[in-house]
Order: sequence, then C-alpha cells, then structure tokens
Amino acid sequence: MYVILNGKFVEEKKAVIPVVDHGFLYGDAVYETMRTKDGELWMFNEHIRRLNASAKAIGIGIRFRELQIREQIYELIKKNKLREARVRVTLSRGSNGFNFGSAKSPTLLIQASKIKFPPRHLYEHGVSVVTFDIQRPMPKVKSTSMLSTVMAYKYAQKKRAYEALLVDDRGRITEGSISNVFFIRKGKIFTPKKNLLEGTVRNFIIKKAKVKQTTIKKRDLPKMDEAFITSTIKGILPVTRINGRKVGDGEVGSVTKALMDTLF
Ligand code: PLP
Repeated sequence: MYVILNGKFVEEKKAVIPVVDHGFLYGDAVYETMRTKDGELWMFNEHIRRLNASAKAIGIGIRFRELQIREQIYELIKKNKLREARVRVTLSRGSNGFNFGSAKSPTLLIQASKIKFPPRHLYEHGVSVVTFDIQRPMPKVKSTSMLSTVMAYKYAQKKRAYEALLVDDRGRITEGSISNVFFIRKGKIFTPKKNLLEGTVRNFIIKKAKVKQTTIKKRDLPKMDEAFITSTIKGILPVTRINGRKVGDGEVGSVTKALMDTLF
C-alpha cells in the first residue's frame, strides 16, 4: 500500500514525518475522510471546501487547488489497486522546532485504503449509543486534535455501544464522536444546530429533506421516536438504543428507513 506524502508516492510502511511535526506534537492538523462511490470521489467538492475552511480557521496558509489534489487521489487509488476507496487527506502545520506558534511548510499526506462499511445487520436492526459529556475544541474544524472524541469513543466501547453522542456543558447533544446525529419525533426530523462539525452527509440530508436544526437536550432523548447517525463511511445508520433504553419501539423507524432508501 502506498501513500502520497508531500506530493510523492511512498510505501506506507516507509513513509516518515519529522518527529517535530506539529501534527504529531500538538494535534495541529486538519483532515478529511472521503470515499468513492462507483469509482468516483463522492461529494469531493464539499470535502475540499471544508478542508480549505478548516485550514483557514487554524491559519494554515494553503488553498487546495481542487483539480490537483483530485488527480493525486485518483492516482493513489489506481496505484493501490482499489475498486472503492476510503480516502484520508491530512494537512499538518509542519514543523518549526518547539515554536508552536508557527511552522515553515505544511505536511500533506494522502491515504487510500479499502472501504469497510458497517455490517448489514446494523443497518437492519440499528445500533446502540451512549451519551458522554464532552465538547470538541473548535467544533466546526475537522482537526486531528481528537483527544475528547477518543475518550468519548472509548467510553462507548466500554459500554459496548457503537458510538457516543457528545453532550456540551449546557446539556445539549451536539454530534457523535465521529458522526452527526438526527432524531425523529412525531414524523418530524431534527438535528442539533450548534457546536458541531457540519458533516457532508448531514448537509446532504438537510438539502434533500425537511430537517429542523434546533437545540436538543440530553433530557429530551426519551421523547424521540427514531434516531440515526451519519457520516461519509456509514451513510445513514439507525440508532435503536440510547443509554440502554429503546428509541421508540426499539426497531428501525419508518422515517429513517425512507431516508435510507431514497438517499443511499
Ligand atoms: N462529526 C465529527 C466529529 C466527525 O468526525 C465526522 C466524521 O468523521 C462527522 C461529524 C461526519 O462528517 P461527514 O458526514 O463529513 O463524514
């Protein structure tokens, strides 16, 4: 398997970055995870737009020329002989010794590997999730500073849940540790409004369906009839239990099913 590191193909096992790279030392990097669908990069422009926005938000002075990076990704997919790929693009600030306020030139890493989708039975029966009180720093930025979400995800694993829903310091549900979340009540679709990453799948659903972006508190969860989480790799994945309690009747609901059928 190869990666592209700063524009050059390198065998993954031989790819190295300096130990003083800010991405490693400080989690000072931004990234995107994308996928192909029928061999084509899916929602590529949206991912590039968000990557540019994340880089700008943290002051990494690079703007991706879309064509150039797209070509590199396709070359890598071909080189790794992949039919469908999960692609990760990581951009770190680079390095400048221990001066963490600045760096000389950014490090750009592109990885492409086989996509592993969640197993089918999870789409048929739903997953269980747990809530976890934590907030991502700079939530609109897709950054590699992921300690809070790693903690949330580890908690979910400990509880044998599939994902953790993050709860901010005002008791509001924001998103999953690596996903966005939607709820359905009395046939209406809701999703949290603030303190979250605006996921590409979240935006896609908001564009295609009638969704209200609103405040959803942890204490509102027992009232929900249906729930699902979304991400590039998962698409729409139904949630049938939250904190051990059934969502609605504990089956995948009709609104969730209809969205899964029409959008994915
Ligand atoms: N929220 C967080 C914190 C994430 O890490 C992700 C994906 O990794 C998402 C939401 C979903 O984003 P997308 O739909 O673009 O995959």
